[in-house]
Amino acid sequence: MVFPFKSVEDFKINITEEHELFRKAVREFVEKEVMPRWKEIEESNRIPQEVFQAMREQGLFGIGIPEQYGGQGGGQLTTAIAMEEIARAVPSLAVAVGVNHLFAIPVLLFGSEDLKKRYIIPIARGERRGAHANTEPSGGSDVAGIQTRAIKENDHYVITGRKVFISAAGEADYLLVSARTSPPQEGKRWWGITTFVVERDWPGVNIGQQFRVIGMRGEQPYEVVLDNVKVPAENMVGKENEGFKVVVTTYDYTRIGIAAQATGIAQAAFEKALNYALQRELFGQRMITFEIIIEKLSDMYMRLEASRLLTYWAASLADQGRPDFITAASLAKTFATESAEWIARQAVQIHGGYGVDFETGVERYLRDAIITTIYEGTNEIQRLTIVRELLRQAFGEKV
Ligand SMILES: Cc1cc2nc3c(=O)[nH]c(=O)nc-3n(C[C@H](O)[C@H](O)[C@H](O)COP(=O)(O)OP(=O)(O)OC[C@H]3O[C@@H](n4cnc5c(N)ncnc54)[C@H](O)[C@@H]3O)c2cc1C
Repeated sequence: MVFPFKSVEDFKINITEEHELFRKAVREFVEKEVMPRWKEIEESNRIPQEVFQAMREQGLFGIGIPEQYGGQGGGQLTTAIAMEEIARAVPSLAVAVGVNHLFAIPVLLFGSEDLKKRYIIPIARGERRGAHANTEPSGGSDVAGIQTRAIKENDHYVITGRKVFISAAGEADYLLVSARTSPPQEGKRWWGITTFVVERDWPGVNIGQQFRVIGMRGEQPYEVVLDNVKVPAENMVGKENEGFKVVVTTYDYTRIGIAAQATGIAQAAFEKALNYALQRELFGQRMITFEIIIEKLSDMYMRLEASRLLTYWAASLADQGRPDFITAASLAKTFATESAEWIARQAVQIHGGYGVDFETGVERYLRDAIITTIYEGTNEIQRLTIVRELLRQAFGEKV
């Protein structure tokens, strides 16, 4: 057994000149249209419609969605670059894009042609917005433990249940909803879950309270209550009772986007800290000359670049269709999100009192970074996945 790498292919990051041109274009766009509005978004807890309109015109809602379904095309690496650059400006706007992917990816991977045409085209064009309603009060980590029910009646299902922490539910037109259609089978807790596309306007879909979470102001999640919602059978995504696979496969991909979000947050926090250390004079000298600050900045930069490389590596493996991209995505998500939290914390410290003052726009990176360690599979769950996959690949062992 050759461990951990089997071939040189395992190391490849397939970044091209086109990717860098794309990054430049996204960066120019967000610096002009999005960055100047960060304070307004934080204070109002809303992303202005003009920002969404500008995003639409740039085609940024269609990144990663095939052209035949109204998107701009581009794979996981292109998507990661877009997410990174948007998050560098306003992380909650990257959440808005990411949530669209959480809706679109399951439909693209498992949905019928009819569902793709009906629901993905308007999402890719930015005309409609999607949400992904999986987490329940019983616990988000245990996807198999959901209690929402979908009961089949003739040519439709009737869904009843409660979902919590659903990003963009208040603004979304379509929701990807998971529900239990059958009891679990012996030794197969995951069996019996089914996923559906539910339209926000259908009777019985109620958007409840908005959660006041620590960060991601502008795109904070909602409660969704489903009260006898009648859903046509053709809106099922994938096969009946096999929705667990739909949900977890979706996160395998979108997790790379979270790693990219975290890299964007870390980049922004690092840039601010570096600039501040260059400008700030203390004890008659520039702060950048203090050894302890140099050590902080070098460690921040080290973790930032390592996060970026891991993220691009996971995205490259996914673009090559390699099944082991799943481990890479978990490694990237865990490392990049914890690095972003640490880097943002150092950026606050380097700014001293100004670091914890809202006006400088530094403390928001720390608040946003903490959230990235929690959603789309907490980092504890990622660590379980990493070791399980490692044992499976290395020894063929299932734990
Ligand atoms: C801002 C925000 C936006 C979100 N957006 C969405 C969304 O759009 N759609 C959606 O469906 N969900 C969304 N979520 C929910 C998110 O995915 C869950 O919060 C997350 O999966 C954790 O679930 P939980 O909060 O119920 O915690 P729990 O699952 O109860 O976990 C609590 C703690 O126990 C740990 N833990 C759990 N199981 C194990 C284990 N086996 N071993 C070790 N430790 C374990 C966890 O890591 C965590 O630290 C969002 C959450 C937030 C905060």
